[in-house]
Amino acid sequence: MKLQETKNGATLVLAVLGRIDSETAEAFGTALHASIATPGIEKVVLDFSGVDFISSACLRMLMLGLKQAREKKVMLVIAAMQPMLLEIFQLSRIDTLISCVATIEQAMKKTIAPAGTPLQAKPIGNEISVRFWGTRGSLPAPLTLQQLRNKLSSALVAGAGMNLDTVERANNFVERLPFHIGGTFGGSSSCVQLSASDNNVVLLDMGSGARLAGQEALRQLAGRPGEFHIFMSHLHWDHIMGFPFFTPAYIPGQRIHIYGCHEQLENAFRRQQAEPSFPVELSKMASTIEFVHLEPGRSYNIAGYQVRAALQQHHGDSFGYRFERNGKCVVYSTDAEHKPENTLGIQRCVELFRGADLVIFDAMYSLAESVSVKEDWGHSSNVMGVELCQQAKAKRLAFVHHEPANDDAAIERLLHDALRLEEITRNGERLDVVAAYDGLEMQI
Ligand SMILES: [Zn+2]
Ligand SMILES: [Zn+2]
Repeated sequence: MKLQETKNGATLVLAVLGRIDSETAEAFGTALHASIATPGIEKVVLDFSGVDFISSACLRMLMLGLKQAREKKVMLVIAAMQPMLLEIFQLSRIDTLISCVATIEQAMKKTIAPAGTPLQAKPIGNEISVRFWGTRGSLPAPLTLQQLRNKLSSALVAGAGMNLDTVERANNFVERLPFHIGGTFGGSSSCVQLSASDNNVVLLDMGSGARLAGQEALRQLAGRPGEFHIFMSHLHWDHIMGFPFFTPAYIPGQRIHIYGCHEQLENAFRRQQAEPSFPVELSKMASTIEFVHLEPGRSYNIAGYQVRAALQQHHGDSFGYRFERNGKCVVYSTDAEHKPENTLGIQRCVELFRGADLVIFDAMYSLAESVSVKEDWGHSSNVMGVELCQQAKAKRLAFVHHEPANDDAAIERLLHDALRLEEITRNGERLDVVAAYDGLEMQI
């Protein structure tokens, strides 16, 4: 490995030639350290055009260098990496931490292009795109081996005698299978994303689905700092447990705003990560995190949305949210029990759902369960969802917070029952009903 240093004003270019592996990483690290520590230097550009191999030892040196650069307020940029190297960076996610640009010229420019290759941002038109990252209630519930095998066996039987000798034919066949055989609702707990403009990311709840949501958001941001707006329905474990694994929270420069109506909002997040429950305390997370108290009933303008929260019946209270933008409306209403005798609560709920294009609704149980053994457990049913949306003249209803004890077939049955109920009780416009699954994306 050869190293060559060139100084250009406040910028220092360190060109590396050869391999950075376990044998040479130490020398590379020392040179990088010296470059960053050079008096008067504001930017260090690593010219990697001549690097044909790196090992994890190099990545470690880069991480140490990045830490040192941040302390000294020196910008660190990697330029002109070979495609294979860039792939290693992407695989190891280093590209989300250090700016990587295509050419030395780009690196020399005062404002550095964002790391990686940014994906085309989705055009922000009138539509709101909604992505479900976690749709399971109360506790994450991964598919069991037996459940997976049952799906495979059912699919094989359904495909017996058919010509499925290419992946394409097999895929087409799987897509036509009933969802409980060809798919799964998934096991992650509550987290839903609403599209937002620029570098804003809007998330509803921080259940275990937030882990993937955070990673995807960073991929989309491609090195730019993001503004994360997180709206909390309430503070039960299944709605906050994803935050310690929410990668953006660990990255300096990322800004995280956590909104909620509970007085204990901040305390619940801090307690979750306090000793002995988690190794990293919330105060040690490197992003900027702020907690914002919202008043139910009041309208706020956040990340391009008009947002209003409403109190819901649940142990320790929960809050539903109504998001409006460009004449479109999405309601997020999870962990709520709707008892017919609670007329004020029903009224408040219908008002929240009024004319919504989409209502995301806690349909954990069947109506029978919700009024018998599971009465006062703080959740609702498929039947109640249809009824409330019909009253409010909402257009679409998506079930979430699926009961962990329900397998895919049981959730699909609850959906079919709701579809039939909607059909026979329809009064005017049709209400579209779906059962959301982890990974579902819909345009509103
Ligand atoms: Zn819950
Ligand atoms: Zn709850």
